[in-house]
Amino acid sequence: MTSADIFGSYVLDLQSIKKRLPKPTFHALKAAIEEGADLGNAHADTIAQAIMEWAMSKGVTHYTHWFQPMTGLSAQKHDSFLAFDSDLKPIDRFSGNQLIQSEPDASSFPSGGTRTTFEARGYTAWDPSSPAFIMHNGEVPVLCIPSVFFSYTGHALDQKTPLLRSMKKLNESASAALELLTGKKLTVIATMGWEQEYFLVDEKWFELRPDLIMAGRTLLGAPPAKGQQMEDHYFGAIKNRVLAFMEDLEGRLYKLGVPCKTRHNEVAPHQYEMAPIYLNANLAADNNQLVMEIMRKVAREHNLAVLIHEKPFAGVNGSGKHLNWSMEASDGNNLLEPGHSPQNNLLFLYFLVAVVKASHKRGNLLRATIASAGNDHRLGANEAPPAIMSVFLGSHITKILNTLESAESFSEETVANIDLGLAELPNIMVDRTDRNRTSPFAFTGNKFEFRACGSAQSISFPIAVLNAAVAESLDEMNAKLENLSSVDEKSVFELLRGFISESKGIRFEGNNYSQEWEEEAARRGLSNDKTTPEAYSAWKSEEAAKFVEKTGFLTPLELSAVYNVRMEHYAKQLEIEAALMLRMIDTYILPPAFTYQGEVAASISALKETLGESALAVKPQTENLERLSGTIASLLTERNTLEKLWLETKTLETEEEAFSFAQKVLPQMAKAREHADQLEVMVDASAWELPTYQELLFQM
Ligand code: ADP
Ligand code: MG
Repeated sequence: MTSADIFGSYVLDLQSIKKRLPKPTFHALKAAIEEGADLGNAHADTIAQAIMEWAMSKGVTHYTHWFQPMTGLSAQKHDSFLAFDSDLKPIDRFSGNQLIQSEPDASSFPSGGTRTTFEARGYTAWDPSSPAFIMHNGEVPVLCIPSVFFSYTGHALDQKTPLLRSMKKLNESASAALELLTGKKLTVIATMGWEQEYFLVDEKWFELRPDLIMAGRTLLGAPPAKGQQMEDHYFGAIKNRVLAFMEDLEGRLYKLGVPCKTRHNEVAPHQYEMAPIYLNANLAADNNQLVMEIMRKVAREHNLAVLIHEKPFAGVNGSGKHLNWSMEASDGNNLLEPGHSPQNNLLFLYFLVAVVKASHKRGNLLRATIASAGNDHRLGANEAPPAIMSVFLGSHITKILNTLESAESFSEETVANIDLGLAELPNIMVDRTDRNRTSPFAFTGNKFEFRACGSAQSISFPIAVLNAAVAESLDEMNAKLENLSSVDEKSVFELLRGFISESKGIRFEGNNYSQEWEEEAARRGLSNDKTTPEAYSAWKSEEAAKFVEKTGFLTPLELSAVYNVRMEHYAKQLEIEAALMLRMIDTYILPPAFTYQGEVAASISALKETLGESALAVKPQTENLERLSGTIASLLTERNTLEKLWLETKTLETEEEAFSFAQKVLPQMAKAREHADQLEVMVDASAWELPTYQELLFQM
């Protein structure tokens, strides 16, 4: 069977459900998806019945609302179709009510203060814009109903609700801009193509590393003799064992309608990437969540473990998730695609400037969406963009924006020149490598690429903030556009000029990894929040409150929940990492080091006894022992300091705790690690129980 044959066979998309529904019900469903119209009980029952029949034809007995709580993972709670009719006969039943709403016990999901535990009721509600699908957990298929998750008081408790609201808001603002500019009434969606990076390691090594199991990353481990310096992995031939995993994974994903397109080796040993064909951003976000979930399962079936963490190995490139984003109108036009006509180019420039303006105004909030304990190890480490937000546009567009900004007036000639320049752009962007790999947010010809997202993060929230920020910019620009007496090129250019000038501080074309940029960014007043707690502080700012009020993608209470949940999550994660590191030092590192120290000491005693105190061999061997015991002593000292800091930090209130972990505990973990890693390359390898970086990265 070809990819196309199996594609979507486990998804009940609009085309497939159409065949199973009476016409009026199908139209009601379409209206619910497109306009958020109420379905009504009768239609909901009919749709539920059709979904159940489809699922049962594939051997399904259970269903679940599938949702994305603020943990960043997906959640499910299975119910069977089993029910009893009025004669107490067992039947299969799936009602409209069950389809539309469910009430999982929500007391254990993070809510950041949006509900107290004693009124723990949380509800999931069907998101009809994302189709139902069947998930195979092993051999048992389960019907999944993509859902939003909210509290008893109606506040969003998930990642998806803000995304859906932001899509709606972006649609309103972008449609309004289109109507003002062209007179056409169209709807607009955000489009998204993510690129997911990950590592694979042999399961037999993974099982022996408590840090990989519990924290997703190695907390200890000396660098291997060979790292990634040979650059022999990137785009290299994919190992058969890995290829078998990828094929299996893609087969499963195709059935679920995930349009996997590209797969290749990444820079680090045993690091890989997959990317799909882009979709409506809401579907793309659901898909990415599914991919991360299914990857883990499929890897296990191949005796592999997948590492989605942003920095599983120190000193080796980490993993990110590039988010390719654009806006598409209902006539199929990509609004960030420069065209061949002056009319098209005007639209293009208008939307492009709106995105630049959005990243200028909300750069620190965008930065905050991708802050996490894992991503802190990666950002700015010469492998990923720094913690400073900036936009790369390429020399061609930069020139055009500079021309627009500095033109004395817009003569026929300036206007014509701008048009000519843009018509060539698609070819230029493809042909010339006018691409900057170091920028966190780069224009890549007909879309923007947000490159700072971490590999393990849910992409819903970063997209939601991006959508909302662009909508906010468009609103401001539209307000001026509305006041123009005529919408011609000259007057629109004149309007854009002000916005280009106001937002140019966010544009940077140079090397984002360089020290000069850090200094330059500071001069420009751009924020440079290096750690997660610093970045999260942006959620508490007055600007953040204004932003959510204007765009409505979060309520003020939800905004404070975003801050609380994330801060707490960060602190908990580091609390676990520090505890784990202490335990590993005590039970994995010190015991073989002590044993080996004893063996070396005994060997020197024997040497002295046999050859005499003054024998030539005694001195270097004694020095060697001193190095070994000195390293053990240093490790003990740093370990004790770490324990003290960890215990002190744990007692603090969440916010203070998070800052203390970032500023005190993490640096101390690095100090302790240094000595532990030195011991790894000193003691008897056969006594070392932890799989080494060589085994993890090269032996599969
Ligand atoms: P690269 O970034 O390596 O050059 P591509 O440009 O081919 O790779 O695309 C990377 C991702 O961008 C893919 O997932 C692709 O589907 C997605 N993409 C392409 N066009 C758009 C668009 N208009 N909107 C959103 N994503 C897009
Ligand atoms: Mg890319």
